Amino acid sequence: MTSSLPRLRGVARLTLPQLRVPPDVERVVAKLLASGYEAYVVGGSVRDAIRGVDPHDWDVTTSATPEEIQKVFRRSLYLNHFGTVVVRSGDHEIEVTTYRIEAGYADHRHPSEVAFTDSLHEDLARRDFTMNAMAWRPGTQAGPGELVDPFGGQRDLESRIVRAVGDPRERFQEDALRMLRAVRFATLLGFTIEPATAEAIRASAHLAAALSGERIQMELTKMLGAPKPSVALRMLSDLGLLEVICPELELCKTTPQDKAVAQDVFEHSLATVDATPADDLVLRLAGLFHDIGKPATFADGHFHQHEFVGEAKAREILRRWRFDKDTIAQVTHLIRHHMFWYQTEWTGSAVRRFVRKVGLENIPALFRLRRADNIGSGARSPRMYALEALWERVQEEIAAAAAFSLRDLAVNGNDVMQELRIASGPEVGRILAELFERVLDDPALNTREQLLALAREIERKGPG
Ligand code: ATP
Ligand code: MG
Repeated sequence: MTSSLPRLRGVARLTLPQLRVPPDVERVVAKLLASGYEAYVVGGSVRDAIRGVDPHDWDVTTSATPEEIQKVFRRSLYLNHFGTVVVRSGDHEIEVTTYRIEAGYADHRHPSEVAFTDSLHEDLARRDFTMNAMAWRPGTQAGPGELVDPFGGQRDLESRIVRAVGDPRERFQEDALRMLRAVRFATLLGFTIEPATAEAIRASAHLAAALSGERIQMELTKMLGAPKPSVALRMLSDLGLLEVICPELELCKTTPQDKAVAQDVFEHSLATVDATPADDLVLRLAGLFHDIGKPATFADGHFHQHEFVGEAKAREILRRWRFDKDTIAQVTHLIRHHMFWYQTEWTGSAVRRFVRKVGLENIPALFRLRRADNIGSGARSPRMYALEALWERVQEEIAAAAAFSLRDLAVNGNDVMQELRIASGPEVGRILAELFERVLDDPALNTREQLLALAREIERKGPG
């Protein structure tokens, strides 16, 4: 099938009257044309417009140099450091980029050099996939619009195929991120990767080792936004990419576990991530990595303390991918606490201590993770009932105005200092902590008078 590799077939032009471009974008193209330059809407925006999807950003490519673009749009422009000019037009910020070719990909990470060209064809040829290598010139009174599609992008879109432009191995050598982009597009669009392109990914997967964490993060985040991220993860694994970017997850394939449905930890993790909400990145990451500590704790068959090992491993992976501190803190917190085991015999104090340990604000997410974990294990009921029962108990405690953290106490450090006429210091902290312990056991104590009386008593008794 290698004979079906894309060849330059000359510039096929066909009209697509249904391609709608916002007037703001048309104005930018028209202005460049009126100034004597070539200009087209290009790339992902054309792909999405053909699919009938509203592109989230509109890109324009032109024969004008960055300086010339700035002259045409004197007032409304900013220049970013890649030489792309951002033109504001109405509500849109449009990236206007000079026709370019990219040369000298020494490290498979990013083009080390950008060179301009006066050929639209060359600009399209440096793009990654056929469906992303089309240009559209909006129609005017003078004539209908035209699609420039030298690599058969429209045909591949129709056949739902992700196909590299030109020689796929060379293209992945130039920029290894394209391999992840192929998986991302295939997943989100429900396309298949054309065999020669897939084969080239297998042969080039090792190059992904040089990718920066930030770029991996961006692609994975998009994959995790798919209805079923398992499609992407399985594809990454089959193509040899997962082994390179996340060996920890690939390793889960070797670890069996004995749940309602016989599966390995890898399959269980995929089923769990699919069962988390698509619009919640923290839960998706927590679902994916909640059992990442299992391979290392498999020795006794009980995965002893895998939640702590998993917490550490997930932190390492997410740091590698340069996720922000907040996301890492939330994901690892959920992983650390995902093994809670509620039983109806829990006393009120046990419920309150559980809430204190996890943090009231984290409980809804922790329960959603557990629900996904249960679905991922193939066991729908009866554990869900236990979750609901525990949720009700937590609600009861909230209604009873129980204190779940120091700031819920009816007194604060100042109150204690005034009451006991002591200065701030460790003694105040000790007394507050003790008050909190008492209130966890008996929420009825959480009134100002009772706590101040207790504080005096605690002080009298002294530490120990
Ligand atoms: P998205 O829907 O994520 O915006 P997109 O295809 O528009 O998808 P962008 O990153 O916005 O992706 O890039 C715009 C266009 O630039 C692409 O459609 C493609 O033509 C080209 N492009 C982007 N990244 C690469 C790359 N790594 N290698 C080659 N061409 C690329
Ligand atoms: Mg885009």
